[in-house]
Amino acid sequence: SCSTEPQLTEAQKASKIGKIIAVMSGKGGVGKSSVTSMLAVSLMRQGYKVGILDADITGPSIPKIFGITEKANVNKIGVTAPVSKGGIKVMSLNLMLENEDDPVIWRGSIITQLVQQFWTDVVWGELDYLLIDLPPGTGDVPITIFQSLPVNGVVMVTSPQQLAGMIVRKAIKMAKKYETTFYGLVENMAYVSCPDCNTKIEIFGAPKGEEEASKNEIPYLGQLPIDPVLSSMSDLGKIEDYQTDNFDKIVKKMLEEVAK
Ligand code: ADP
Repeated sequence: SCSTEPQLTEAQKASKIGKIIAVMSGKGGVGKSSVTSMLAVSLMRQGYKVGILDADITGPSIPKIFGITEKANVNKIGVTAPVSKGGIKVMSLNLMLENEDDPVIWRGSIITQLVQQFWTDVVWGELDYLLIDLPPGTGDVPITIFQSLPVNGVVMVTSPQQLAGMIVRKAIKMAKKYETTFYGLVENMAYVSCPDCNTKIEIFGAPKGEEEASKNEIPYLGQLPIDPVLSSMSDLGKIEDYQTDNFDKIVKKMLEEVAK
């Protein structure tokens, strides 16, 4: 036959994915993986079926944040993604390494191949949302993902210290180059709430996320405080037990953008 349909792998035939959302940041350490994880948890709490593709190959942190120790299983159809306590499917290189402390000392070409296989060879099954935790910046892996996966949109994570620079704008320009929809910008670590009086302390100065988002003509999804509970729950691998409604507003706005 002369079908123009792309050839699907067995794993892809066994998967049905609603929307693919890539989470980006200009630089490391702004909380991209934490925000990816909490977006997933918030969607899961609303009853959606969610998966996370950890594309931050050299600094994979998603399995640890969710406390997943089970390894990925390889069978005839493909690789089965381990599932978190709450039911979130996670695929990460760390779930394939014998020893999670082993460093990845691979050249870029191998890493980009691996990321593609997380798409072609993982049996994701039926998902409403697949979130992709991209590595920071505009390197090989984000390019590969934008070129070879049907990404529906991007969420950009920033923190106030970072917004002063041009790094965010670089990342935004890159995603726009691939004609990706921007679901919006999340400003993480925007302030600390005083535990005694609840005053917002803006330790990095006044947050500029909203202004930056409008300058770049992308939606502003909101800001998140620095919360020591979030980092300790992540360190313990118990992000799914972290109780907050900070993310619900952000997810609500994001879903409005997704629906447009
Ligand atoms: P990135 O993926 O951008 O490198 P991470 O999500 O790994 O960043 O976060 C870096 C560190 O900051 C982690 O220790 C994480 O627990 C912590 N962190 C991220 N966001 C917050 C927050 N809102 N409040 C407190 N700690 C945070």
